[in-house]
Amino acid sequence: MTGNAVQCSFCRQVQSSDIPMIAGMDGHICESCARLAAQVVESWGRKRSVSKPLHEPPVPHEIKRRLDEYVIGQDAAKLTLSVAVYNHYKRLQAVTTAIDNAMAPDRVDIEKSNILLLGPSGTGKTLLASTLAKIVGVPFAIADATTLTQAGYVGEDVDSIVSRLLDAADGNRELAEWGIVYIDEIDKLARAGESSHATRDVSGEGVQQALLKLVEGTTVKSNDRGRKGQDSGSVDTRNILFIAGGAFAGLEAILNRRVRPKNTGIGFHSIPDSDQDMEAAPDLFDQTRPEDLRHFGLIPEFIGRFPVITALQDLDEENLIRILTQPRNALIKQYQELFHYEQVNLEFEPAALSAIARDAVERGTGARGLRSVLETLLKQVMYDLPSEKGVECCRVSEAAVLGQAEVEYQYQSLEAEQSGKGAVSSG
Ligand code: ADP
Repeated sequence: MTGNAVQCSFCRQVQSSDIPMIAGMDGHICESCARLAAQVVESWGRKRSVSKPLHEPPVPHEIKRRLDEYVIGQDAAKLTLSVAVYNHYKRLQAVTTAIDNAMAPDRVDIEKSNILLLGPSGTGKTLLASTLAKIVGVPFAIADATTLTQAGYVGEDVDSIVSRLLDAADGNRELAEWGIVYIDEIDKLARAGESSHATRDVSGEGVQQALLKLVEGTTVKSNDRGRKGQDSGSVDTRNILFIAGGAFAGLEAILNRRVRPKNTGIGFHSIPDSDQDMEAAPDLFDQTRPEDLRHFGLIPEFIGRFPVITALQDLDEENLIRILTQPRNALIKQYQELFHYEQVNLEFEPAALSAIARDAVERGTGARGLRSVLETLLKQVMYDLPSEKGVECCRVSEAAVLGQAEVEYQYQSLEAEQSGKGAVSSG
């Protein structure tokens, strides 16, 4: 090396007519080092951009308030979820800030808080999970545990969940990595243990193992081809929030066995707080502990990955009436909108709403029963209405719900005069 020759301060390459240098205040850089530096900076950018998809997460009170707009009742679950989701995204923000700062060596690593929802079918588990994703503004995917299989088996691979999330994120990998996945019917993966309701055996346990990896954090190669302009390489599942839900039929027996002995007062082990347990009996699921889920047939590692457990309650008649009318996209509002397309008002007597709710309670499918009750009730009307001239209003009475009368049609007065009918006539 010559004494005064200009050198690259990074690789000591000497400047020549073929190797130009960019001069800095105190040194120089050659083209290949500049390119290398650009690549390094690019990779920083990729890490940093993880923080882009999400703005500041709404605070728990705000999350709960917005859940209230869509989900009726289930206050305990809403509160738990609001806190868990807020903490999850706060944690992610802290992680990405730490990447930005490239410091904080003694930062405490907060573990991910995946959530387990226990509750009967049609009580709002899926609705809660999807609404949360909407509130936080992240992509959302649903998977059904009963259709999942271990890799290599016929059926839906566990990794397909990630592809679905990527789809929901419109192929945006970084957005997908911050998404929420809801896995329904998780209870069906329980091995046939103490619960006679567990329907899967070893294969269910295999799926639990496969899910475990996904939930803990793994890199899933996306097989999404043909997506325009998007890097559909691999998706890191470390930061995806997993919410698992199930009816856990048969868990009551396990809970009862643990809780009841205290209450019966039989034997020596009756303990002072047994009265409290007795009062809580209707909300038995609230008392679920990890060991109960182990007895149910979930593997301990899997349970360990879902540290937040919350229960949803059966919906009673009053809640079902509220579900019919109050949420933003309440069923009655949806049908009223549908009727508006025909320029017809749809009205329900309060007693009719109660009758619909009672019918749904009898069906035992939670709020899911409401839609089928309404479909049956309004099928004939929806068939006739587009051919009917001059109808202004359809009125649903309790008798109509009970099948003792027809839904009443109210005609525009002019039509009524012309056709010689009264203001309201039976359809
Ligand atoms: P689950 O997942 O518990 O079986 P879903 O969340 O799928 O039940 O509920 C089915 C439908 O019933 C939802 O689309 C929603 O319209 C309605 N629903 C259920 N629970 C509630 C609730 N608590 N508040 C409002 N609507 C509800």
